[in-house]
Amino acid sequence: MTTVTAAEAAYVVAALLFILSLAGLSQHRTSRSGVVWGIAGMVIALAATVGLASRSITATGLVLIAVATAVGAGIGLWRARVVEMTGMPELIAIMHSLVGLAATFVGWNGYLDVDPGLSGSLLGIHHAEVFIGVFIGAVTFTGSVVAYLKLSARIKSSPLTLPGKHILNVGALLAFVALTVAFVARPNIGLLIAVTVVALALGAHLVASIGGGDMPVVVSMLNSYSGWAAAASGFLLANNLLIVTGALVGSSGAYLSYIMCKAMNRSFISVIAGGFGTPAAAAEEGEQGEHREINAEETAELLRDASSVIITPGYGMAVAQAQYPVAELARKLRERGVEVRFGIHPVAGRLPGHMNVLLAEANVPYDVVLEMDEINDDFAATSVVLVIGANDTVNPAATDNPSSPIAGMPVLHVWEAANVVVFKRSMAAGYAGVQNPLFFRENTQMLFGDAKQRVEDILRGLDALDAPVPEMAGTSR
Ligand code: NDP
Repeated sequence: MTTVTAAEAAYVVAALLFILSLAGLSQHRTSRSGVVWGIAGMVIALAATVGLASRSITATGLVLIAVATAVGAGIGLWRARVVEMTGMPELIAIMHSLVGLAATFVGWNGYLDVDPGLSGSLLGIHHAEVFIGVFIGAVTFTGSVVAYLKLSARIKSSPLTLPGKHILNVGALLAFVALTVAFVARPNIGLLIAVTVVALALGAHLVASIGGGDMPVVVSMLNSYSGWAAAASGFLLANNLLIVTGALVGSSGAYLSYIMCKAMNRSFISVIAGGFGTPAAAAEEGEQGEHREINAEETAELLRDASSVIITPGYGMAVAQAQYPVAELARKLRERGVEVRFGIHPVAGRLPGHMNVLLAEANVPYDVVLEMDEINDDFAATSVVLVIGANDTVNPAATDNPSSPIAGMPVLHVWEAANVVVFKRSMAAGYAGVQNPLFFRENTQMLFGDAKQRVEDILRGLDALDAPVPEMAGTSR
């Protein structure tokens, strides 16, 4: 068996492992094995690629590859170990930017180092591949950097609304097509610089134009772009595994974006086209009225008397790391015979499945964790809803205020319950920057403070309610 056939066989095995990995990652019960399949596939892919490369490069080249792999693996391990769960989307966004940057470099290298054996139509195809690779890579690069800045709150999450923004986007796409035709006919570095600049500007503008509420879809869309960027590099490098893996990431990311758009009642085309067709809505918030407050002891009493409780967690539960006391609270209430369930919004938190991961970590049984569609009809018959660090995902303005920036987004109908207790630190708006009329409803009470501390206070409050009341002096017989 030659090195080439061994490497191609290893690539097939690696591709199968990546497919198994995707299948495993699609459910949280099997997600750990999904990660292991992915690691195994990547190790095989790296070994096969280095084996292939070793036929044509010097010993110094091999040492450089080893050093680059060690540095990359070291940075990856370090970041993965120190990242907080709440920082995952930012980390993913910045990783996507690196894939885009790499694809841009591969494209440039494809122009600077053309195989002398290529001529005629094959050379034309090669130059088209260079252009497409650079374009997708540069759009992914700046789009991901802007997503990183928005997700880490380094820039505002509100949408940028330049005058004629859709004309700018369409103009950039037309410029790309015209430049590609010109480049294939007469390749030169000026055109390559021009397409790089157009693509960098387009990527930044597309993501800057997206509002806070649509960011989950953008993150998964950038995931998809990074896959297509890798596939484009695969064509340039004639590497089958890169093409297959890129296509897997590209298509699964696109499908995830589509599912998320459906879950959020958003137009897929609108989101990928930088908010095309969405009105530049400004929330007419007006006077909201007064809010009412409740303390932990009173909440404990409310829960003691409840027959059914639904907990709807959000980003604040993740920030506070409140999942462990929340799981303990659910356990205690269930022991008392209270029906306790969790209602999970598809974009609660900052990454798909964020709440499911946290609750699984705290050993909350899967059968009491329900998706939004499964639980939304049950709020009306519920005694108490605990909204723990959620805001946009429980905002009634999405259903009853057509001028709200989140209008049309499906939300958890928590306000239909008899009593709603909202755990947060202040009256501040959620990620989309929209005030929440829920906080001012008659059946809502605010429990201010860090979610973890407040839930622990409630646990103590429940224990105190259970403790026998000491007999007053003089009342004993
Ligand atoms: P939000 O981000 O809308 O609100 C979270 C709330 O948590 C805030 O209002 C904040 O209020 C409160 N909070 C923060 N820290 C604490 C703390 N320590 N203790 C108690 N409360 C705290 O949360 P949701 O989960 O409801 O909505 C998610 C939002 O994020 C959506 O707009 C979604 O589109 C977006 N998004 C989701 C992604 C995903 O894939 N899931 C990815 C990117 C964005 P206060 O400051 O007053 O405490």
